[in-house]
Amino acid sequence: MPTTPTLDARHLTVTGVVQGVGFRPFVHRLATRFGLTGWVRNVAGTVEIRLEGPDDQLDAFDAALRAEAPSVSRIDAVWSVDAESEGATTFTIAESEDADTLRPVPPDLAICEECERELFDAADRRYRHPFITCTNCGPRYTVIDALPYDRERTSMKAFALCPRCAAEYAAPDDRRFHAETVACPDCGPRVWFEGGGADRVAEGDSAVRMAATALRMGAVVGVRGLGGFHLAVDATNDAAVRRLRARKQRDAKPLAVMVRTLDDARAVARIDEREAAVLTSSARPIVLLTPRDGTPLASALAPGLDRIGLLLAYTPLHHLLLAAVGRPLVMTSGNLSEEPIAIGLEEGRARLRPLVDAFLMHDRDIVSRCDDSVVRIAKPHEILMRRARGYAPVPIALPVASPEPLVAVGAQLKNTFALARDGQAFVSPHIGDLDELAALEHWQEAYTRYRALFRVAPTFAVRDLHPGYLSTRVAEELGLRRVIAVQHHHAHVAAVAAEHGVTTPVVGLAFDGTGYGDDGNVWGAEALISDLSGYRRVGQMRYVPLPGGDAAAREPWRVAVGFETLAGWPSEAFGLAYYGVPTSMREGAHQQVLKGVNAPMASSLGRLFDAAAAVLGVRRHASFEGQAAMELEALAGDLPAAPLPFPTYEQDNRLHLDPVPLLQALGEGRRHGVDVALLAARFHESVVEAAVDLARLIAGSFALDTVVLSGGAFQNARLLTRIARRLAEARLRVLVPHLLGPNDGAISYGQAAVASWILSRE
Ligand SMILES: [Zn+2]
Ligand SMILES: [Zn+2]
Ligand SMILES: [Zn+2]
Repeated sequence: MPTTPTLDARHLTVTGVVQGVGFRPFVHRLATRFGLTGWVRNVAGTVEIRLEGPDDQLDAFDAALRAEAPSVSRIDAVWSVDAESEGATTFTIAESEDADTLRPVPPDLAICEECERELFDAADRRYRHPFITCTNCGPRYTVIDALPYDRERTSMKAFALCPRCAAEYAAPDDRRFHAETVACPDCGPRVWFEGGGADRVAEGDSAVRMAATALRMGAVVGVRGLGGFHLAVDATNDAAVRRLRARKQRDAKPLAVMVRTLDDARAVARIDEREAAVLTSSARPIVLLTPRDGTPLASALAPGLDRIGLLLAYTPLHHLLLAAVGRPLVMTSGNLSEEPIAIGLEEGRARLRPLVDAFLMHDRDIVSRCDDSVVRIAKPHEILMRRARGYAPVPIALPVASPEPLVAVGAQLKNTFALARDGQAFVSPHIGDLDELAALEHWQEAYTRYRALFRVAPTFAVRDLHPGYLSTRVAEELGLRRVIAVQHHHAHVAAVAAEHGVTTPVVGLAFDGTGYGDDGNVWGAEALISDLSGYRRVGQMRYVPLPGGDAAAREPWRVAVGFETLAGWPSEAFGLAYYGVPTSMREGAHQQVLKGVNAPMASSLGRLFDAAAAVLGVRRHASFEGQAAMELEALAGDLPAAPLPFPTYEQDNRLHLDPVPLLQALGEGRRHGVDVALLAARFHESVVEAAVDLARLIAGSFALDTVVLSGGAFQNARLLTRIARRLAEARLRVLVPHLLGPNDGAISYGQAAVASWILSRE
C-alpha cells in the first residue's frame, strides 16, 4: 500500500531573554535552513514557534535553536508539544500577540562588532551615523514604552523608516530584519552641539567634532546618552577633573573613565582575561581595575584608591566622540552629588547647565532612567557593585512564588525596588539613596513605569523594619492591602540564599554599615541562622556607642571615641585617631557616650573599618560612607599577614566578637612604627579569621552545612575571597552574591523572597 509522507508539526514556547535580541529573525533563518514551514511570534515575554516538516528536520531545528541562539539572548526553557499540521507553505514572522502573562523586557545592548565596523567604514551608508543598530545591539529597556517590543512602542516611533531601512527591516536574510531600532542618516535621530543659551551651534558630525575640541581644551560637556546624561571631561587633564568635582560637589568618590577599545583600556590598566570578558560583554559595565604605573590618567580620578573604574564605549555616539578626542574621557552620571541621573532634554538643560560648559545632545527620547552598572572581579567571584544598564530589567527567579503580586520597596541607601509575580522578581535598576525628595520622585517614576511595563499591580508591599525610613513611608502610603516588614540583614541573607534557590536554613553572615535591628539598635556585623521564614540572631559584634549617631558614618574619629570608651578612657592606643580634631569636640563626643545622648549602640563591621582607619591615622573624616574601608583595603592589597587578636565571648546565648583588643593592637603597632600597610593587612586577616571561626562554630553547633556571605562589606575583595576560600576548605558550602550585588541594592529582592514565602504559607 503506498504511503504519502505525512508532515509532522510542533508548537514550541521559548522563555528567557528572547525578545529584542534578534530571536525571531534567528528562528526564521533556522527554519529556512532546515526547510521547515510555519511561523514565529512574540507572545508577551515569550517566543512561540510553529513548525511543520519532516521529523528529523524538526529535531535538527531543536538542537540548533539552543546551540546557535544569539549570544545576547538567554534561553531558560523550551516547551515543545506535538501539533496538527496546518499545511503551511512558507515560514513567516507573525504579528506580536499581546497577552497578560510574564513580560521580560530586554536590557540595553552595547554596539556589536559588525555595527562598529560599519560605523567607521566610509563606504557604508551608515558611516559615522551615531544611531547605527541591528538585531544584535542597541537600546532596549531605556527606549521601550510598553510590550510587546515593536518599534511603535519605543521612542523610535518618532522616526519613520526611510525606504532603504524599511527594505532591510523586511528582508529575512538581512542583519536588520525586524530590528526595531533600525535607523540611518536619512531617517534616524540627530545630534547637535549646544552652547550655554540652548543655541544649536553645530549639527551632525561637526557637532561631535566640536564637542571633542571642547573636551580637549578641558571643558565639561554634558553628553546625552542611553540611560541618561553623562558629564564628560578629559580624563588626562587633572585641572579639568578637579573642576568637574567641584561643580558636581563630589570631592572624593571615584569617577569612571571611558575608552573606545579594549586596547585603549589595556594602555591604562592591567586587565586579565576574565576582566576583558566583562568589559567587552554586551552589558559593558564599569569594571574596577588596577591602573598601570605611569598612566596619563589624572590623579584626581580616585584619590587614595588602588583601582579605577573603566568602561568601554557602548553606543555609536561614544565611539565617534572618543575617536575624535583621542583620549580617555571621564564619563560620570549627569547629576549633582547623589541626585538621580538626568534624562530629558529640558531636564538636562535645567539641572546640568550650572555644571557644564556645553552639551552634546540628541533627540531620541530616553524612556527609562538607567545608570551604568559597576562590576569588580575578585577571582573566582564577580561582584556586582551596582546593577543597572545591561543587567536590569532581566527578571530573577524567586524560590517560591508569591500567591499575589507584590512590591518590595528596598532599603534606604543604594535603593532598588522589586516587583514580584509568578515566581519572578523584576528588580529595578539602581535608584540611589532615598534620603531626598529628588530620589523619592525618581523612585515613584520608576515604580509607575515598571508597573505598567510588566503589568504588575501589587496587592502587598514589603518594607524594611526601620520605622523612620523614607522607603517605609513610601510602602505605607501605597495604600495596599497589607505591608510586611522584613529585617535588613534577614533580607541580605535571604537575597543570596534565594538567588541560589536555597530555602533550607543556612548560617548567614551579614556584614555591612547600617541596618535597623529588631532590638532597635544599629546592626551590621551579624551571624544569623536564617531561612525564608525567619531568622535567629546567634552572633554579633560587641555593641559600641556611636556618638553623634548618623554623623559617625562620616567621621571615623567619632567611632574611635566609642571604642575607646569601651577600652577604658583614655587609652594611648587610640591617640592617632584624633589628629586635627579639637579636644573640645573629642571631649564632647565622650560625654555623649557617657550620658547616652545621641549615641546609639551599633554592631557594625563598617564602623569597625572606620575605627581601624582612624586608629591607624589613615582617615578621621570621610566624604562618603565606606571611604575609610576602601582605603584600608587599598593599603592592605594582597600583602600576606597574620591575624591580630579578635576574641569571641558568649553572652545572652549569643556569640559576641570583641574588636577592642584588635583596635588596641593596631594602635599600639602604629605607635611603634609598624608599617601601616602591614597593619591594614593584619586587620583584614583578623576579620577573616573571626568570621570563619564564627561561621564554623555556628554551623557545627546547629548541624548546618551552608554559609551565606552577604552585605556591603563583601564588596571588599580580600574579605570575600579569603572568607569564602577558608570556609570551603572547612568543607562548608559557601553561597556568595552573584546575580545581585552584596550591597543594599539586593535588599528589595531579599524582601520579596521572604514575603513570597510568608504569603505562600498562609
Ligand atoms: Zn549591531
Ligand atoms: Zn533610514
Ligand atoms: Zn545592608
